[in-house]
Amino acid sequence: METLALDVELSEELQAMRAAVRSFVTGELGPWAEEIDRTGEIPEALYPVLQRNGYCGMRLPVEYGGGGLSLFQYCIALEEFSRLHRAFTIAANYSSGMTPMALTRHGTPEQKERYLPRFARGEIKSGFALTEPEAGSDPAGMRTRAERHGDTWVLNGRKHYISGGHVADVIMVMAVTDPQKRARGGITAFLVDRNTPGFKVTRVDTTIATDAIKLAELTFENCELPEGAVLGEVGAGFKVAMRSLNDGRLSVSCSCVGAAESLLSMATEHSKNRRTFGKLLAERQAIQWMLADSAMEIAAARALAYDTLRRLESGKNVGSAGSMCKLFCSEMVGRVVDRVVQIHGGMGVIRGFPVERFYRDVRHYRVGEGASEIQRIVIARDLLRGIDISE
Ligand SMILES: Cc1cc2nc3c(=O)[nH]c(=O)nc-3n(C[C@H](O)[C@H](O)[C@H](O)COP(=O)(O)OP(=O)(O)OC[C@H]3O[C@@H](n4cnc5c(N)ncnc54)[C@H](O)[C@@H]3O)c2cc1C
Repeated sequence: METLALDVELSEELQAMRAAVRSFVTGELGPWAEEIDRTGEIPEALYPVLQRNGYCGMRLPVEYGGGGLSLFQYCIALEEFSRLHRAFTIAANYSSGMTPMALTRHGTPEQKERYLPRFARGEIKSGFALTEPEAGSDPAGMRTRAERHGDTWVLNGRKHYISGGHVADVIMVMAVTDPQKRARGGITAFLVDRNTPGFKVTRVDTTIATDAIKLAELTFENCELPEGAVLGEVGAGFKVAMRSLNDGRLSVSCSCVGAAESLLSMATEHSKNRRTFGKLLAERQAIQWMLADSAMEIAAARALAYDTLRRLESGKNVGSAGSMCKLFCSEMVGRVVDRVVQIHGGMGVIRGFPVERFYRDVRHYRVGEGASEIQRIVIARDLLRGIDISE
């Protein structure tokens, strides 16, 4: 079900792409979603299936074997994936998320040659390591340190809550290289290969969401990296990370829209079938209002996200609009899922029913990639500086 006719405003190319992804998701991914729920893992055998169908390295340049999709196109793909299961968005991000795209933007020809074709073939996975135990919302306060010793960099420190860090083959790690400068030229991005001596996965956390989403603690102890591990300029790592998070916020926004739309379909169907006191739930105004409010909020969220993506594509500087999208969409899906659980009654909280899993899965969105409060800070900062993000 579509909540609004906004699709009509998508270009024909985007509409065709959406239809193709939807047909792949509904036709092929159902059994994989069941396996993910049964095992709590994203099966390795899924990646060749994604790859064969063009869903590995979707955003990577065509010359490296990628799909060459724009951020808008990628967001549409993630929106479709998340209608079924959040784990598919994680699988897609391994090869097209923040680290592969930072490599595409800032990598040297050698770095690109080394990693991008393997992402596109679905052979390797990426991780993005910014957060530390003492530096989450305020990443500039990070303690992980990289010091230059002759031709090498020596990395020491600890990162945590790193999505997929336990399976990542290459991780972009942000570390302090100049403690005086920190976020203003004193943080550098490094590419760390999984087998680098001194690098260890020291803990793997599961969360309230599907067990397939795991967050890893990564420890670096005198981990020696060659000069060629620096991604971008020395000292430019904070900018690299923030630029990556901007994209991430838009893909999260569209994932929220996809999940919310799927949830609303479930609630609508359920209310048309469930009778209480001799009448269908759908005939009750209290239920209709919950459906109507959800439809309205999904439409508004989608419009905001698409509008921002369109403006980005036309080369506009959207400032903190990505934060606005992420904030609005993640809070929207929280309200929608709460209503949808309510409409399902007991069934909405029983393990094994999709509604319950969505309820847990979408809770992440208000914390990861900058919590809601931080998005508000970013938006207010632009506002108070007089920056107009609505143009
Ligand atoms: C599912 C998931 C996946 C993640 N994946 C990654 C990853 O791949 N890589 C990575 O580097 N990190 C990752 N993270 C970490 C995530 O970015 C941090 O959890 C997030 O930035 C918040 O940091 P924190 O947990 O330390 O909370 P804190 O910074 O301790 O914040 C706690 C609460 O206080 C609020 N708060 C903080 N400062 C202020 C303020 N000034 N004013 C008002 N309120 C404030 C926050 O909004 C939050 O609600 C992930 C987190 C989750 C949940």
